[in-house]
Amino acid sequence: MIHELLAAGRTRSLEFFPPRTEAGRDVLRATLGGLAGVDPSFVSVTYGAGGSTRELTRDLVVELNSAATMPAMPHLTCVGHTRAQLAAMVDDYTSHGIDNVLALAGDPPADGSPAVGDFTFALELVEVLREAGSFSIGVAAFPEGHPRSGSLAEDRRHLAAKLELADFAITNFFFRAEDYLRLVDDMAALGVTKPIIPGVIPLLDPVGVRRFADLNGAWFPEDLASRIEAAAPAERLALAVEHSVTLCARLADEGAPGLHLYCMNRIEAPEKIFAALSD
Ligand code: FAD
Repeated sequence: MIHELLAAGRTRSLEFFPPRTEAGRDVLRATLGGLAGVDPSFVSVTYGAGGSTRELTRDLVVELNSAATMPAMPHLTCVGHTRAQLAAMVDDYTSHGIDNVLALAGDPPADGSPAVGDFTFALELVEVLREAGSFSIGVAAFPEGHPRSGSLAEDRRHLAAKLELADFAITNFFFRAEDYLRLVDDMAALGVTKPIIPGVIPLLDPVGVRRFADLNGAWFPEDLASRIEAAAPAERLALAVEHSVTLCARLADEGAPGLHLYCMNRIEAPEKIFAALSD
């Protein structure tokens, strides 16, 4: 269980997404082949908005867990689902020995239409999971605040309520250590000291990451992005890794309970980042 791993020492984890193409499956296969060198404490697998990767996520998580080298945690979103649909998925995970779930709201439909289903907030899914069995439950945290929240203070209060019932949180990516440290301090001030694992993204795709940062209202390092965009392809990995190593080393020094890398199913950056941190 991930909360037990966190209690035992600083975790190292990776986020994967379920590939939809043969080329994507080849990339992930190569990454899984090299995973022993990275030796993650656990991995997590994303869930497409509104259930669009429901089977793919489930199949990948079940396959990774049966290999039994490390726990694989499914992400699960509740917006757009009925209570019966989620109960069936949770039962299925229980029957396959899946002990860890990242409980998320997910986003309402992009076209602005109201989400159908029985759920609005991630806290409701945490409650379902708590009632269903003995899961180790993770939730999402946004160091700079969630973009749909009215204010940072309001978002912090909702996160504190969610995290009180869950076991740990993983943050959205951020580039300034201070944003993460402020989040941890704010939770402590609200009486919540559950582990909050920082999520770090190596800046290998500045265009894509800038788009996500804009969507999430997160600060984006334009200087670093310009240097990476101007660099020769062979140098980009080194620049992105150097920045992630500096950020991760600071977070570790400040007592972060784990380091979670958004690796886009690729192994090269995690290999280099974790190797540098071990030196
Ligand atoms: P919530 O905790 O429900 O919060 C959503 C908003 O509602 C916030 O603004 C919050 O302040 C507010 N709120 C919460 N409770 C209340 C309340 N009682 N009253 C009023 N307002 C309230 N998305 C996917 O589709 N698939 C994934 O696999 C996925 N993985 C993710 C992994 C991580 C680590 C992170 C950080 C995000 C991930 N997301 C994923 C994105 C996430 O689903 C969206 O950001 C979503 O908009 C919010 O999810 P949440 O779980 O934080 O929701």
